[in-house]
Amino acid sequence: MLGSSDEALCRAYDLAMLDLDGVVYVGGAAVPGAPAHLASAREQGMRLAFITNNASRPPGVVAAHLTELGVEAEAADVVTSAQAAARVLVDRYGAGARVVCLGAEGLQDALEEDGLVPVGVEDDAAAIVTGYGPQVPWGDIMRAAVRVRDGLPWVASNTDLTFPAAFGVAPGHGVLVEMLRSFTGVDPVVAGKPERPLLDETVRRVGGRRPLMVGDRLDTDIEGAQRAGYDSLLVLTGVTGLEDLVAATKELRPTFVAPDLAGLLAAQRAPSEDDGAFELGGWRATVGGGRLDVGGSGEPDDWWRVAASAAWAHLDATGETVDLSGVEVPGR
Ligand SMILES: [Mg+2]
Repeated sequence: MLGSSDEALCRAYDLAMLDLDGVVYVGGAAVPGAPAHLASAREQGMRLAFITNNASRPPGVVAAHLTELGVEAEAADVVTSAQAAARVLVDRYGAGARVVCLGAEGLQDALEEDGLVPVGVEDDAAAIVTGYGPQVPWGDIMRAAVRVRDGLPWVASNTDLTFPAAFGVAPGHGVLVEMLRSFTGVDPVVAGKPERPLLDETVRRVGGRRPLMVGDRLDTDIEGAQRAGYDSLLVLTGVTGLEDLVAATKELRPTFVAPDLAGLLAAQRAPSEDDGAFELGGWRATVGGGRLDVGGSGEPDDWWRVAASAAWAHLDATGETVDLSGVEVPGR
């Protein structure tokens, strides 16, 4: 079931942990309306943290990019999986520990910032950390693989299989993780979403007592929030569409759903259920013969909420995902 909030989310929660790609920007451009929605949420007292699984770009670079897109951000507002990985390493091995660093500048910076000592792949070390690093030579990867197989503890920044490169969707760090895993038989400690170190590090750095995760991906942003025990808002400006949403099993379901970041500025109502029909704001969703039917009229926001609620109830009761044939998403 979706949650509800009588207050606008930006007042009910004091920290938004914002995923970037598909939430704040898509490709090179800001999501339409995002800069204004975020500025308004901030004016109403919500802190904004921009969080990314990408370990290669230092926070200052990410902040400069956001500012260029019209979203005011400072380096301290950005938290990366590299910083979360560094925290994991400090907690386990202590400041001053020597760590083999296989990744890009952002990862090395994060280690040094936390008092760790990045060393080369041949050097004496307490652990190894890996992150997206297109310039890392294959010879170093082979050497690292052998050391992990032989017992050197391994922390990975993230397990994202894809990465939005300028030339298209490219292999992400997760592809290297899979390769190392298959060679070594070792599972790394993972810092980024959907594991909790990145979210915990965000709360620690930016502050906030009632955090809300805001993301576009069910299996990283939303699942990660659930694992860490935080409420979440799914926005539909990124990779998740109706097909994914209606098929979401319990651990992938957000607390709230909204078409875009304007959802932060509004109260959130949950549909009411009456004998298998879910109603809200003039919409009514039912499932008959396995098919989803949404009738009525109203705001698109509420359409998504009744559609998701009816589909999830059907999925839980039958184990079957609803048939979407004939369903038309309003405003698309
Ligand atoms: Mg995203």
